[in-house]
Amino acid sequence: AQQEYILQLQNVVKRFGGITASNDITINVPRGSIYGIIGPNGAGKTTLFNMITGVYDTTEGKVLFEGQQVNGLPTHVIAARGIARTFQNIRLFGDLSVYDNLLTACQKNITYGLLDGILRTEKCRSQERESREFCDRLLEEVGLSDQRQQRANNLPYGMQRRLEIARALATRPKLILLDEPAAGMNEEESDKLSEFIREIREKKDVTVVIIDHHMDVIMAICDQISVLNFGTLLAEGKPDEIQNNPEVISAYLGVD
Ligand code: ATP
Repeated sequence: AQQEYILQLQNVVKRFGGITASNDITINVPRGSIYGIIGPNGAGKTTLFNMITGVYDTTEGKVLFEGQQVNGLPTHVIAARGIARTFQNIRLFGDLSVYDNLLTACQKNITYGLLDGILRTEKCRSQERESREFCDRLLEEVGLSDQRQQRANNLPYGMQRRLEIARALATRPKLILLDEPAAGMNEEESDKLSEFIREIREKKDVTVVIIDHHMDVIMAICDQISVLNFGTLLAEGKPDEIQNNPEVISAYLGVD
């Protein structure tokens, strides 16, 4: 049977020397939800993503993906299980086209590119075709077909952010982690982003965990939100519960 929670952090602790970046964090992310993680700078948000994706192991506690422990596994193994992420700072292949940025993320395709001319069986060719068709569809779905041949670096900022999310989707994840996707966006761009994230949840059937400081985006799209403060979980709830929580207001919302 499918797990109700696609992702679970169980009493997770992460220490860096004397700094406790995560202090006994327990979070359950329902499958199919959009789940927000907010909190002041340095609260430990990105550290959670780094533990979920295998960049770091936990100091204590477990990370479960679909009921299986993943902390301690290498990043590529976790990625292959179905977790993708984007980063706070855009990390595209700037000199490659929009389309090739997506194709690189279809992992099979890279292998076949390398084998090109050496071992090109019909199976390779058909799988490459399949990857290319998949990326064509994905370009349509994310609204980047018109930019297909443009170099990633030449895209406007909002579209670079969109391409980053699309590239994460090209790995066909079940769970996607977005680290401040609205950073640096104006209101119009962040409204478009909110709509886009809702769309991909529907069209691509993914669960989304999003870190962001744009409260308009977080409150508009999240089903559930966790608030971190100094590595500790301060509150958890639906957007209206979080907005009206006095502790959250004084620690975070009131002072932004
Ligand atoms: P921001 O919104 O500024 O990115 P954040 O909530 O994502 O903040 P983290 O980046 O998770 O916060 O950092 C939490 C704490 O852990 C900070 O004090 C940070 O300096 C520390 N930290 C994170 N990674 C490391 C590391 N590799 N080595 C040492 N300390 C680290």
